Amino acid sequence: MSSFVPDSSVVESVEASPNFDERTGLGRPDMIVLHYTGMQVAHDALHRLCDPKARVSAHYLVFENGAITQLVPEAKRAWHAGVSTWSGDTDINSRSIGIEVANPGHDFGYPDFPTRQIAATITLCRSILMRNIIRPGNIVAHSDVAPTRKQDPGERFPWKRLAQSGVGLWVEPVAIKEGPALKPGDSGEKVTELQKALAEYGYGLEATGHYDDATNAVVCAFQRHFRPAQIDGVTDVSTRETLRKLLLARELQALQNDQKSAASANAKTDSRTHHAPAS
Ligand SMILES: [Zn+2]
Repeated sequence: MSSFVPDSSVVESVEASPNFDERTGLGRPDMIVLHYTGMQVAHDALHRLCDPKARVSAHYLVFENGAITQLVPEAKRAWHAGVSTWSGDTDINSRSIGIEVANPGHDFGYPDFPTRQIAATITLCRSILMRNIIRPGNIVAHSDVAPTRKQDPGERFPWKRLAQSGVGLWVEPVAIKEGPALKPGDSGEKVTELQKALAEYGYGLEATGHYDDATNAVVCAFQRHFRPAQIDGVTDVSTRETLRKLLLARELQALQNDQKSAASANAKTDSRTHHAPAS
């Protein structure tokens, strides 16, 4: 593909990747999926994301120094999520914007994300949110949508800092404490309840009542994102209560949004009434 005009002024350069096609379904993104590159050198990742043989891409790549390169226009379907599920949907590429954050990842020492890089990622997400209608709960990790295959961007990714800047949903994790836990091998109604709650948040998980490998993987993904102090796939009191808090926070946010849109609709009607010329 020839070069294109970037979607945002925060983009420093464009490197057009041939690895994309057309969005299907909604035809517009309502999710952001965050990744790490998982390669030792960020420029190698850039080459790979533009290599037609690799058949992978993302819309954006954020370098360690905060520079942002756009690879695919937001209107197009970049190939970053692979086999994934969220909220019952399996074509995550069609409904998302993919951001690769340069970091060598778990295989290469998994260093902290530099402050400048996170600041740039936040600025980029905020600019995406100005152009697209994306609920905070739909700003997710690759590991959230592909929990059995992926760990990125991983437990060091500062989701809390993003949420403090208006990007994504976050609740303070409930402290780890003693109490009844659910773990791999368990089965019964409590396991079904847990699976339903995770699926309600968006995770691709069936309510089988058995704490199987899939459940273990989803709990790990949840912990990696929302309770990063301990990632062990065991649903302890802290994990369960943090999930409950998160579901409540999302409900509250949805209510507030409804109120806001009702208020702005009223304001529009008001201004129309007040400024309408007398007829
Ligand atoms: Zn990824």
